[in-house]
Amino acid sequence: MTDAVRLNRRELLRLGAGAAGLALLPGALGACGSKKKALSCVDTQGLSEADIQGRKALKYVDKSAKADQNCANCGLYQASQKPDSCGGCTILKGPINPAGYCAGWSKKVG
Ligand code: SF4
Repeated sequence: MTDAVRLNRRELLRLGAGAAGLALLPGALGACGSKKKALSCVDTQGLSEADIQGRKALKYVDKSAKADQNCANCGLYQASQKPDSCGGCTILKGPINPAGYCAGWSKKVG
């Protein structure tokens, strides 16, 4: 009976180690590049102080908090020709994330 209990403990430890390894697997896969990196459009290098202040004044954020409002569905957004790249905006200078948002959001028509 005691041997059976010890054996079960060993088995449990072994299984636990295996489960821990499986739990780490998604992170390891991400490190291999299978996970897509989020687009970042917050680099304001090269912009004038006035342009940077304009982004701040309209509270531009790289990721919209509103499920139905983002730069991609804003009428002022200018999409990049390159896939997975920052676009532009007719009222804000600098890189604009299609998933971003600012107080100037205006529903795209058509
Ligand atoms: Fe995005 Fe604001 Fe420009 Fe619309 S006005 S594209 S929400 S930054």
